[in-house]
Amino acid sequence: MAYDADCIFCKIIRNEIPNTVVYEDDVVKAFLDITQVTPGHTLVVPKTHVADIFGYDADLAAAVFSRIPKIAQAIKASDPAIIGMNIVNNNGKVAYQSVLHSHFHLIPRYQPTEGFAMTFTDNSADYTPEQLQQVAAKISAQFSAE
Ligand code: 5GP
Ligand code: ZN
Repeated sequence: MAYDADCIFCKIIRNEIPNTVVYEDDVVKAFLDITQVTPGHTLVVPKTHVADIFGYDADLAAAVFSRIPKIAQAIKASDPAIIGMNIVNNNGKVAYQSVLHSHFHLIPRYQPTEGFAMTFTDNSADYTPEQLQQVAAKISAQFSAE
């Protein structure tokens, strides 16, 4: 189990700083995000220190991702007012990651306008089908390079 002494989430995993636990097992810990963007906002973190999604292997991914649905289901079942949920995983400072220990935000949704919002810009007019094919080919080529 990797541990980073400078990492706030590693400290939370070891209960070296106070936290409000929702669920925990040998692989993950789920605890309330201190900001409570919406009520019940929960973070799911792997117990081993890994900075972001780029550091996962398939085994860690299978172990961590397999826990997320049951935690999401428990949050939803905890309050009939919850009618949806955003699951958000930020990777890199440019992508709004502020704590460099991988984590998944489970953000229960109660209404269309509340503490959380996302914007998807439609840039489809900027791409021809050929350009889309080139973008996809560049990514696809990485699988054969593995
Ligand atoms: P990020 O911006 O990296 O995706 O999210 C980091 C999250 O960690 C933020 O939503 C922030 O509120 C939460 N956070 C930071 N420090 C603490 C802490 O000490 N305790 C808890 N419970 N959450 C924290
Ligand atoms: Zn850590």
